[in-house]
Amino acid sequence: MSKNTFHLVSLGCSKNTVDSESMGQLLTKSGYSFVADPSQASILIVNTCGFIGPAKEESLAVLEEMAAQKSADQYLIAAGCLTQRYGQEVAQQVSGIDGIIGTRRWMDIIDVVKQLRRGKHPEPVYHLPEAPQTVMDQGGVRRVAVQGSSAYLKIADGCRRPCAFCAIPLIKGTAVSRPAEAILEEARHLQNQGVKEIILIAQDTTDYGHDLGIKNGLADLLTKMAADLQQEPIASDANSNGVRWIRIMYAFPGYVTDQLINVMAAHQQVLPYLDIPLQHADPRVLRSMRRPANMEWVHKTLEKMRGKMEDLALRTTFIVGYPGETEEEFQTLLDFLAEVRFDRVGAFQFSFEPGTTSEELGDPIPAEVKQERWERLMALQQGISLEKNQALVGKTLEVLIEGNGDGLSMGRTYRDAPEIDGLMIVEGEHSPGEMIQVRVTDAMAYDLSGILESDLPIVNQN
Ligand code: SF4
Repeated sequence: MSKNTFHLVSLGCSKNTVDSESMGQLLTKSGYSFVADPSQASILIVNTCGFIGPAKEESLAVLEEMAAQKSADQYLIAAGCLTQRYGQEVAQQVSGIDGIIGTRRWMDIIDVVKQLRRGKHPEPVYHLPEAPQTVMDQGGVRRVAVQGSSAYLKIADGCRRPCAFCAIPLIKGTAVSRPAEAILEEARHLQNQGVKEIILIAQDTTDYGHDLGIKNGLADLLTKMAADLQQEPIASDANSNGVRWIRIMYAFPGYVTDQLINVMAAHQQVLPYLDIPLQHADPRVLRSMRRPANMEWVHKTLEKMRGKMEDLALRTTFIVGYPGETEEEFQTLLDFLAEVRFDRVGAFQFSFEPGTTSEELGDPIPAEVKQERWERLMALQQGISLEKNQALVGKTLEVLIEGNGDGLSMGRTYRDAPEIDGLMIVEGEHSPGEMIQVRVTDAMAYDLSGILESDLPIVNQN
């Protein structure tokens, strides 16, 4: 095992993935190299997630496994969101952790490694300095995570919203936006690297720029980014070396403005796709969640977006089993789902989070009732998703190829964000990173299958 090697496991969301990449860059700049085999690394790092119960359990399980397998000349560092909140508790629960660092000062990973290198410590090295908010840019490293021909680009972190069930503001602090020029420079850099899809992420992308005194910051940023990147790529040249897709994740209801909708509709590169977690549809429950409860605004805004972008793909997220949720209120949520017909839906069972404002409400809804409501919601959405996919049969969609094998290729359409949405299975082996026009020939509940448009008999081609 070489002394200057590290192995990093990244858990949780795409924002954590970007922090992991940035920590990796800092270590590489300091002469360390990443090794895929943890037994060959002198420094082991787990970038933890502390969002909700199941995520915390997974983080602890990975740390316990690493601690159990590490040898005497290896150091184990627990980083990220779980340690930001529960550094002491994690170190007490998992023996064998040598260093603890939080998510707000991810860039101090080098200091922790240097401290550990100075010799074995009886106690874990804690690096949890008072930091009012998450530091976005430091150490000259990029705030992106490239995965194949796609890249997550972090535009902000932290959150100023008061959602009662959410621990993220406690973990990350308030919202901090990156300077627009830093983001635009990184988008240009990603394009020069041949990236085809840029996915803009934050805790709340629609709040971008607020702390910088910018109104409609996200709409502004998108306008500059679309102009900055290659002029609208020539439709026929799907493989021109330019970013073809800009995807927006994590929009906050109430902040999807007309300016944002117009910018999305005006720029071919900005995908007609929006992830807008709504969490519920019953006004009393939403008020109790301290979330925007104006359902008329929700209906109007979704209609406006669908009016401006006929191919719009909408993703949202809901929580079932929130304290006090009655069967009638849950039915209101189901009725809303049946009426609006989202393209993509994620659902979580309420997770009791100490320190959040919903703590006082406890966790009264029995686990089996939460499970039963979760299953009913997902079953309803599965039917809607299938019908929407079936309506695409015969249509031609652009597909970003991500893998191939056994005579088939796998990719995503504009309707599919990585890791959370569906896939397109295409006949033939096409190269990863290729963007091809595919005629949809079959639909499943979440996925589609199709054939290369140009492989179709001339008479059938568009
Ligand atoms: S918007 Fe609400 S749910 Fe989302 S990160 Fe902020 S506080 Fe949490």
